Amino acid sequence: MNRTDKLVRPNVRALVPYSCARDEYEGREGIFLDANESPYGPLNRYPDPRQKELRAAISSLKGIAEETIFLGNGSDEVIDLCYRIFCNPGSDRALIFPPTYGMYQVSAAVNDVEVVKVPLDENFDIDMPAVTPLLEDERIKLIFICSPNNPTGNCMNPERVDFIIRNFHGIVVLDEAYAEFSGKPSFIEKTGLYDNLIVMQTFSKAMGMAAARIGMAFAVTDILKYFFRMKPPYNISTINQEAALERLRDIRPVTVQTEAIVAERKRLAEKLATIPVVEKVWPSDSNFLLVRVRDADSVYNKLRSNNIIVRNKSRDMDGCLRITAGTRSENDRLISELNKI
Ligand code: PMP
Repeated sequence: MNRTDKLVRPNVRALVPYSCARDEYEGREGIFLDANESPYGPLNRYPDPRQKELRAAISSLKGIAEETIFLGNGSDEVIDLCYRIFCNPGSDRALIFPPTYGMYQVSAAVNDVEVVKVPLDENFDIDMPAVTPLLEDERIKLIFICSPNNPTGNCMNPERVDFIIRNFHGIVVLDEAYAEFSGKPSFIEKTGLYDNLIVMQTFSKAMGMAAARIGMAFAVTDILKYFFRMKPPYNISTINQEAALERLRDIRPVTVQTEAIVAERKRLAEKLATIPVVEKVWPSDSNFLLVRVRDADSVYNKLRSNNIIVRNKSRDMDGCLRITAGTRSENDRLISELNKI
């Protein structure tokens, strides 16, 4: 048994996966009487369970092998699978660095997994003295690192991330949902070097395809083979696979749009800093800004009554709103409404 096998829950290790009809015959032409589909209808055939075409396209975009790519119904499915594969309910734990993406904790609760919290330091970076003693804790199976982090917007120090991957006995899940906006190196290539690293990215942010629900996980096949076994066979619809393939056919618009969003984020940050009600704007490596305002609830409600919806984070972070960078005109509307407050 290798290290991954030892970390995997015994029932998952022993799992005999559902073998679906489309696993057995890969051809496109034929008389398909194997899957109890209707011979009629616009979407009568089941999707490709292994999303081969889409994974091949992602492979050439990212420059990594197809077999090191897994696709989930959004990153949220990948997060849930991490718990179901590695954490025994009621006994195993996961470690997170709050304030961070809320689904790590919700998914843990769904799977009856206790969460150990190591709050980010005053620069919103990983608190190494606090986390280091926990890296050998056998009950902790997963560490979730979000970089760039939601809702703080910043990247984690890569040396700290590296140290955690090298010294943690369990699996590190590095969530790079906002990577394209950061201009900083991804850890994708490091998945080939480490047998305990899963990097997640998504079609929901820079790719502009949140409605299609496609999340990516990159890791060695020793890890990913369990994800393929555990997932529902047809976890990504044909419509969504085709839409993603279409988006990848020409990546130039995505690059142009990502640059436009980053430029708007910078302009928005500068404008926000001049507004009386705004107390602080944190630097961002993502497509949103964390902002502290005077009386967050009232600012939030006033914006909402003008049909401008931002995220009110003030319950977790005093006075804080999280504001996504929109188009230039959307951002101008926001600035003008904030200036009236
Ligand atoms: N990770 C982070 C850090 C996020 O902020 C989000 C969405 N807000 C996700 C993952 C979820 O991505 P997906 O749409 O792929 O499920």
